[in-house]
Amino acid sequence: MAFPAKNEKNEGLDLLSAVFLLSGPLLLIDPDGRVKSLNGAFVKLLGYSAAGAPFSKFCRNERSAASFLESLAREGRASEYLDLSSVDGSVIPARVSASKAGEGFAVAFDDLRGKKALEEELKSVKDELKRRTDYQEDFREGVFHMLRDLDSSERELETAYEKLKETQAQLIQSSKMTALGELAAGVAHELNQPLTVIKGLSHNILRNFDASSAPYEKLRLIAEASEKMELVIRHLKIFSRTDGPALSPVDLNRVIKDAFVIAKEVLANSSIKVKMSLSEIPPVLGSPNRLEQVVINLVTNARDAMPKGGTLEISTGIVERGKARLVQMCFRDSGCGIPKSLIGRIFDPFFTTKDIGKGTGLGLSISYGIIKEHHGDITVESETCKGTVFHVTLPPLT
Ligand code: ADP
Repeated sequence: MAFPAKNEKNEGLDLLSAVFLLSGPLLLIDPDGRVKSLNGAFVKLLGYSAAGAPFSKFCRNERSAASFLESLAREGRASEYLDLSSVDGSVIPARVSASKAGEGFAVAFDDLRGKKALEEELKSVKDELKRRTDYQEDFREGVFHMLRDLDSSERELETAYEKLKETQAQLIQSSKMTALGELAAGVAHELNQPLTVIKGLSHNILRNFDASSAPYEKLRLIAEASEKMELVIRHLKIFSRTDGPALSPVDLNRVIKDAFVIAKEVLANSSIKVKMSLSEIPPVLGSPNRLEQVVINLVTNARDAMPKGGTLEISTGIVERGKARLVQMCFRDSGCGIPKSLIGRIFDPFFTTKDIGKGTGLGLSISYGIIKEHHGDITVESETCKGTVFHVTLPPLT
């Protein structure tokens, strides 16, 4: 190992000698770039110990070494990152800084291997961090999608539940109807015989009494009551009929007009104004008699809902239900309306709000049964004190 010689012209060299001993890897090179001296740290770094070698010998890339020396000569100082080449051929990245020292230059080396390793470690930590952040982001996105799917499944479930409830209600309604139909058929059959006797005899005996006599009034009441009972039995018979109706193409406008031969009588003593607006509609497949029965029932109910008079609007038309086109009849009255608490029960058999003897509670359940037989639907909308509208929809004959 060689030390810089004491030089009278440059006292800085004494200081340099001290720095040489204490500092990191150092070289002294002459203006041509040849090594004048090197210190122990340099020998330890690269393994070269002989002076006289060109600076480029320690660099992996000769061009980089030449450019470094050029800027050093030009500027009097230089500092660059260079890849050094050690005696055993390994490459050592270093920051190389040089400045003027006497005639030549002092060159210091900062071994960057530790820094590089740290940088690489830092990079791998950063990469890992990014990987985890990306994963978290994906995870969050996944959770977000899951929540959205969950939300829409919940909505689907709610819709399905509503449909199920509706189907269940329909099922209950139709099983109630079947059971009551059987019961009604039995009751009607059992009552018919004695009733015919009561009615016949009461009318018979009535003829033997003077209208002003005391028994006459009582007998008249018996005869009247038996007629009301006959009406109930007639209703029961229609209600319990299980044989399907004879079906033929039916014009609902015709059905309404025919039903009004009787319905006119129903409305005779009322001050109800009837407004009809019958549109051109396709025929339906049905039983005219049964459909007339529905019209009469709805008109009778409208009359009863308007004891002080009002308006009954009857209309026909075509409505769209999803992809289906249906024929519709509407009966809108300006009557008392149906309280919300009762509207769910009006199609139940024997449900009536009318006085005893005035209502059988079978009109709507019979109408419901008839419309269902025709593969149609009957629905109601009502507001207390404002009125009620019944919509009857039936599939057109195709
Ligand atoms: P009923 O007429 O013999 O009572 P329905 O089955 O025809 O039997 O009707 C059941 C009940 O529905 C009626 O008692 C009445 O409370 C209600 N209702 C039916 N139609 C109307 C209407 N247009 N306006 C108000 N209430 C009505």
